[in-house]
Amino acid sequence: FPRRGFRGNFVPPIKSNGGNAGNTISSRISEKNDDLLDDSTRICLEILCGPDGELPEKLRNLEPRLIEHVSNEIMDKDPNVRWNDIAGLEHAKKCVTEMVIWPLLRPDIFRGCRSPGRGLLLFGPPGTGKTMIGKAIAGEAKATFFYISASSLTSKWIGEGEKLVRALFGVASCRQPAVIFVDEIDSLLSQRKSDGEHESSRRLKTQFLIEMEGFDSGNEQVLLIGATNRPQELDEAARRRLTKRLYIPLPSSEARACIVRNLLDKDGLFQLSDEDNATICMLTEGYSGSDMKNLVKDASMGPLREALRLGIEITKLKKEDMRPVTLQDFENALQEVRPSVSFNELGTYEEWNRQFGSLS
Ligand code: ADP
Repeated sequence: FPRRGFRGNFVPPIKSNGGNAGNTISSRISEKNDDLLDDSTRICLEILCGPDGELPEKLRNLEPRLIEHVSNEIMDKDPNVRWNDIAGLEHAKKCVTEMVIWPLLRPDIFRGCRSPGRGLLLFGPPGTGKTMIGKAIAGEAKATFFYISASSLTSKWIGEGEKLVRALFGVASCRQPAVIFVDEIDSLLSQRKSDGEHESSRRLKTQFLIEMEGFDSGNEQVLLIGATNRPQELDEAARRRLTKRLYIPLPSSEARACIVRNLLDKDGLFQLSDEDNATICMLTEGYSGSDMKNLVKDASMGPLREALRLGIEITKLKKEDMRPVTLQDFENALQEVRPSVSFNELGTYEEWNRQFGSLS
């Protein structure tokens, strides 16, 4: 593997070490032997090196495998969601554009009293498009997107969560502008009593708040988005750092119509009349965006199931012989796919929104 930087520059040896001893990626991170790094780890590190071939300060002393994990598993190189993919949520889109996308695109204008908050909370029932918004922000602002579920930090990375958090913020800072999306942020920043709290999760929480504080005070182009469907679990410190808090509600009936149309259209299957689509929307009051997706999936199986029932073999079935998806398919699917959010839960979100939500 050639010892060259990402842009093909020759990577000079570390001066202070003298000789060739410092001419390894690993020696710029820790004292570990370079031979222990496999090629994929080395590539990740090379990419993060500056034009001088040096690893940025923040990444030194971090374990290479954690940097690699962040680069390969948490960083999403192609979030691939655009604003138009998200049905409804006009208010949230407008707020996010002004609060987040413009500042990421024009940091020179959003300074001083225009300087934006670096923490955004998206709260509301599950499956309403919070993750989609995070990805769309990264796409629209041409930012690198990092996705992590906070519960994986506490369950999968037991005892190492703190180090992974440092690696995450470190890599994000090297890939600015960046958006760090933390799903289920309540499991990380909850207000559980400290005596009942596990020591390691308390440390993890502290580390996380320190990292947030760090980029909040600097000029970093890094935005943290937390998503939760249990906002009431967040403590005061978390709320203080997540300065904008946007309620992402269940989709309106127009948004549900839009989801049905978009999903079927993607596969060239949309042939419902406006009237039938309106009926579907009426029958799906209380369905989340992800419930709608499951419903469309199930309904779109209707024509296929019918063809097979009529005795056509799956191997001989021609796409053009299948009938279009109908209202009846949706009515059948409604028996199978039930709404996942209860009416009572909605009251909790609305109450929390009144108390802590950002209305503009
Ligand atoms: P959340 O993060 O709020 O739990 P997601 O953003 O992961 O929900 O949404 C899950 C899936 O549900 C998406 O991949 C998408 O197919 C569908 N979905 C949810 N909300 C919307 C929406 N507003 N517009 C279009 N699709 C949506």
